[in-house]
Amino acid sequence: MSKASKRSFQAYLEMMKLSGVDELLLPSERHVVEEIVETASSPAPAVSSSKDELLVLSETVKNCSLCGELAQTRKQTVFGAGHAKAKLMFVGEAPGYDEDQQGLPFVGKAGQLLTKMIEAISLKRQEVFICNILKCRPPGNRNPLPDEVINCQPFLWQQIALIQPKIICALGKFAAQTILKTTTSISALRGQIHDYQGIKVICTFHPSYLLRNPADKKKAWEDLKQVYRELQLS
Ligand code: SF4
Repeated sequence: MSKASKRSFQAYLEMMKLSGVDELLLPSERHVVEEIVETASSPAPAVSSSKDELLVLSETVKNCSLCGELAQTRKQTVFGAGHAKAKLMFVGEAPGYDEDQQGLPFVGKAGQLLTKMIEAISLKRQEVFICNILKCRPPGNRNPLPDEVINCQPFLWQQIALIQPKIICALGKFAAQTILKTTTSISALRGQIHDYQGIKVICTFHPSYLLRNPADKKKAWEDLKQVYRELQLS
């Protein structure tokens, strides 16, 4: 790397740090991943290693075209964002219009509600990891098709393996049923602590559903309190 490139990369890192972005995994460009790998001269601590592996995985996702229709109609993939070693991971269904435009998960109205839900249990978005079952937006926000879930779920399994959260909060039917490999309704799955490979799974309603059915926010609050209690124990 030339001196000028190094200076420019260091300036870029400083800017990211000042913006508080060093705790975030943002949609990466290939050259950023290459720069990080190239500049890693000593054994990296666990968080950096996990972050680097997530960046590499996000590159794989970005180039994925397993679901022909989704790959053709998406503006970009939405890998997920948050802390590379988050104790708490939120998993939703699929990106919507705003997420597809920005390349970030939960940034529309439902995302604003999710932010409030996270803050209600004394956390910040940067402290958790947020992603979806599908990394591409289904056209017209239709439901994910079974084949699309099958195609995309290995990326989620890899994200979970790298982040190793203590608790997964499944947002809505698709996330809960995919993670728990069940067809049980979200209402029946709520209120219990489930298991995914030794990680506690708590199910609640999707924020989009809560926007349409505000009366169920009370139940979602009960679920969040359960998440909070389990986090204190972990
Ligand atoms: S939804 Fe997942 S599996 Fe399908 S094209 Fe997008 S990244 Fe690939």
